[in-house]
This record gives sequence, structure tokens and C-alpha cells, in this order.
Amino acid sequence: MQQYDCDLHIHGLYSGGTSKNMVLPMLSEQAKLKGLDLLATGDILNKEWLEHVKKHLVEENGCFKEERFGTYFVLAGEINDMHNVHHIFFLPDFNSVEELRDKFRRFGKLDGNGFGRPTLNASAEQIATIVIEAGGIIGPAHAFTPYYSVFSHFDSLQSCYKSAAQEIHFIELGLSADSYFADLIEENHSKAFLTCSDAHSPWPYRIGREFVRIEMKAPKFSELKKVFEKEKERIKLNVGLDPREGKYHCTACNRCYSKYPLESAIKLNWRCPRCKGTIKKGVRDRILELAKFTEEVHPSFRPEYLHIIPLAEIIKLALNVENINSLAVQNTWHELVSAFGSEINTLVDVPIVEIADINESVAKKIESFREKRVLYIAGGGGKYGEPIICDSQEDLERKKLELRDVLECGSSFKGQKTLGEF
Ligand SMILES: [Zn+2]
Ligand SMILES: [Zn+2]
Ligand SMILES: [Zn+2]
Repeated sequence: MQQYDCDLHIHGLYSGGTSKNMVLPMLSEQAKLKGLDLLATGDILNKEWLEHVKKHLVEENGCFKEERFGTYFVLAGEINDMHNVHHIFFLPDFNSVEELRDKFRRFGKLDGNGFGRPTLNASAEQIATIVIEAGGIIGPAHAFTPYYSVFSHFDSLQSCYKSAAQEIHFIELGLSADSYFADLIEENHSKAFLTCSDAHSPWPYRIGREFVRIEMKAPKFSELKKVFEKEKERIKLNVGLDPREGKYHCTACNRCYSKYPLESAIKLNWRCPRCKGTIKKGVRDRILELAKFTEEVHPSFRPEYLHIIPLAEIIKLALNVENINSLAVQNTWHELVSAFGSEINTLVDVPIVEIADINESVAKKIESFREKRVLYIAGGGGKYGEPIICDSQEDLERKKLELRDVLECGSSFKGQKTLGEF
């Protein structure tokens, strides 16, 4: 058996707000550069995207392979249900796609631009039942985010999926949570955790910014199903951003991004006194509300969670430029990835001295990243968090002191009255 690095949640050209480069050959090429083996097609219920997918993939023993660059794909999509809960699903073949299209058509529009992720006037229970009947597997997408997730609208998977709850075998963690947080909730201990990018553009700081390493006989649906349902120990590694990088990690104002401790937000009736914006409950506080455990605890099959920073972001910090899309960042990225084969390899495995031959300041940042000299300004209210990579242990200690008021959730009012107390 072989290990495959998989990004199982992305969107295609017709999802709305997606890059025009979100086409299979480009995704396939970028996946190779990133070091990913298996991608979700995304948006497979959408007629236009389905035709595009059929045109570019060839099937061989249940594996779907993009012809030009050789990345494997699994047929997959995302649905928004009647309660605004998002679900991701995977299907074995094009027949099951057609079956779902037939059954879902009466619940909402599936085709056309902007409908890659359809909104269906059906409950989670109905949707899950139909997917499972068609031979597919399904689970909640970005399970903790405050707008479109199972735990923002329900207190448990059971209360969301009802009679279909026994058939939910995985949950997608989303950018603002990791295994540490998700396993504080007891119900999640029987589920596989997926770390996926939910990318809307193919660039390597989006695609694969989170991914999962799975041991399989071949990169295909039937293997994924077996792993999620009964051989979860074959999930070898979750890789993702530090949850503090997520844009809904802390409870914060969705207009001026001021962070608030949960108690203050409640006292303020979720209204920001600074700008009159709405305070949005953060993933961290939501999980702590539902948590049974107060300290780290995992089921025995749970793999390690590796916190990663996209290489382009590290290069941006090393070169000290504002824009991650700038030519300087892109050129350095390409230089490193062509020298070392893939982004993941460059970040995790290549000896620092070899990276230094190409760019010394990037090598220094990667070394600090590997030695975990990283602080985070936590995100919230829709604003992404920010990593700060420190050059030495002394640098880290100094910045920790300097930035103590902005690093964590709600600590921006440390030493003063919280706004809720005024
Ligand atoms: Zn979603
Ligand atoms: Zn999505
Ligand atoms: Zn505000």
C-alpha cells in the first residue's frame, strides 16, 4: 500500500467567486508542484463542470486520472442545505452522479454559472440519505465555521443528520480548527478528520493549504470509503494551518475585527461598541461550549496534526514584501519547487543548507518554521490570522512580550476593563 496526499475539497469554475484558472489541467499541474496526489473534482453535480470533468479525466479500475499532468481525482461536490449547513460528498462513478442529479433536481437549481455548490431545499437527513443510497459517502464541510456549518446550527451531528447520523463517518475540520479542538467534543471521536483547502483558486498557497495523507491500495473512491468507514488508522497525517490562522478562530467583530472574550460578546448582545458591527462567535469559543473534555484527548487511530505555513507565505515574509502574488514571491517559489520537486518536500524534508544555496533568507525562515519558532496573531470576524516567524528563540520571546495583547483571542483587553464591563 502507498501513501497519498489528498486535498478533498475544492471548487470548479462554476462555483461563483472562483478563479478562471480553476480548470482540471491547471489544477492537475499545480497539484503536482504542490506535491499532492489526489484531488476532489468539486462541484460534480453541476452540468457544465461535469462535462468539463468528463472531458479531462480517464478512468482506469475506478481511478480517475487527469491526462496531461497525471493527478488523480475523486468525483466530489458540496451542497448547501435548507439550514445553511454545508456538506461534502464523494461518489464512485458517473452513473451515481447522474442518479444524484436526477434526485436533487427537484430540490434546487444544479446547473449554470454560480451553481457549482447548489443550495437545495432539503434537510441534511434527506440529502445524506440520497447520497448514501446512490453509493456515495457524505459528511459536514468545515464543521465549525460560524455561518455555514453543522456546529453553528446544531449541537451535534445526531441532531443535524437524524436517522442518517450513523452513516456519517468523517467531518471536515475547516481552517479554524484542528484535531486538538475537534476531539474536545466526544461525538467526534468516532469520526475520521479531513483537512482540506476548500480552494477557489489553483495557486499553491490555496490548493493543498490543508491536506490529508491516506494509505490506500490506489487513489480511488472505494478505498476512501473503506478507510473512512472502518479503517481510520490508514489516515496517516492531517496537515493544516494553525487554527489561529483561520478567519473565524476568535470571537470578533465582522467589521472592525476587534476580538472579544465570549462573556463580553454576550454582555454586549453581539454588537460591537466600537463600530456597531456584528460580533461573530469564533470557532474556538463554539467548540469550548460543546466540549466534554477540558484537555487534549484523542481516539487511538487519530494521526498527528502537522501545522504548516504555505511556502509562498514564508517566502513573502522572508523577502519582506506585501503581496503574496508578487513576481518576486512567484519566481522564488518556482525556483525552489523546480529544484526540490514539490512544495511539501521543500517545506518539510530538504536540508536547510540546500535551500540556502538558492535563497538564504528563505532558508532561515524555513528553518525557524521547522523548529516551531512561530507566533500567530489569531484571526476572527472574517479576517485571517497572521503567522510571525521568529529568527531565534530570543526573537520569539521578545515578540511574544511585544505582541501579547494581540496574539490570542480576546486578550486585546488584558490589563484593562473588557468592553463588556463599561
Ligand atoms: Zn462550504
Ligand atoms: Zn467549499
Ligand atoms: Zn467593530
